[in-house]
Amino acid sequence: MHAFPAASDALFCGMNDRETSTAIQQPIPGRACGSCMLCCKLPAIASLDKPMGKWCLHAAPGAGCASYEKRPGECREFLCDWLLDPGLGPDWKPDRAKFYVHSAQNGGLNIMVDPGSPAAWRDAHYYPAIKTAAARLLVDGRNVFVLIGRRVVVVFPDRDVDMGAVPDGHCVRTFSHSVNGRMVWDARIERTAPSVQNGEV
Ligand code: SF4
Ligand code: SF4
Repeated sequence: MHAFPAASDALFCGMNDRETSTAIQQPIPGRACGSCMLCCKLPAIASLDKPMGKWCLHAAPGAGCASYEKRPGECREFLCDWLLDPGLGPDWKPDRAKFYVHSAQNGGLNIMVDPGSPAAWRDAHYYPAIKTAAARLLVDGRNVFVLIGRRVVVVFPDRDVDMGAVPDGHCVRTFSHSVNGRMVWDARIERTAPSVQNGEV
C-alpha cells in the first residue's frame, strides 16, 4: 500500500496541446514512428492552427508528412513515450494501441486516446499497467490523465474519475482530503487564469 504524498493537489490544463520536452531526446534503438501518425491527428498544434482531433492538413495517413522538411518545431521535438521507453513493448505502439502515452513536464502521464476507440485504454492488456503507473506516480503527487477529445478521465489507483468534457479556460485539479478519517483523492474542474490555460502546472 502506497502512502499518500505530502502534496495536497495538482492542476492539469494541457489537454489540447502536443507538449514537447525541453530535454533533447532520441528514440531508443529500433523504435521509429513508421506507419503511425496518431500525434498528427489527436492533439491541437498551435503553430499549425490545427484543432484537436482533426488530421493535420499536411498528413497523408499511412504515407507520412507531406511537409516533412518544413514541419514545425512542435513536430520535430515531439516523441511519445513508446519511442523512448523500452518498457512499452510493440503492443503499445500508438497506431496499434489506439492511444499514445506522453510523460508530462510535471512528471505525470498523459494518455491521449483516439476518440474512434475511446475504450482502448481500458483493454485488459493495458489497463493494469496504467493503474500501476497511477499508484506509482501518486506517491509523488502526480497523476495519470486520460484524454479522449475534450473528455478527461483521472486515473487513481482505486478508481477512475470521469470529468466529462472540460471547457476552454478550465483545468482539472486533483486533491486529497479526509473522509471518515481516511485520506482519499478526488478531482474537480476549475476555471483558470489565462496564464495557465495553455500549459500544465
Ligand atoms: S504517436 Fe508516437 S509513434 Fe506515433 S507518430 Fe507520434 S511520436 Fe511517432
Ligand atoms: S506537419 Fe507533418 S509531422 Fe507535423 S502534424 Fe502535420 S503531418 Fe504531422
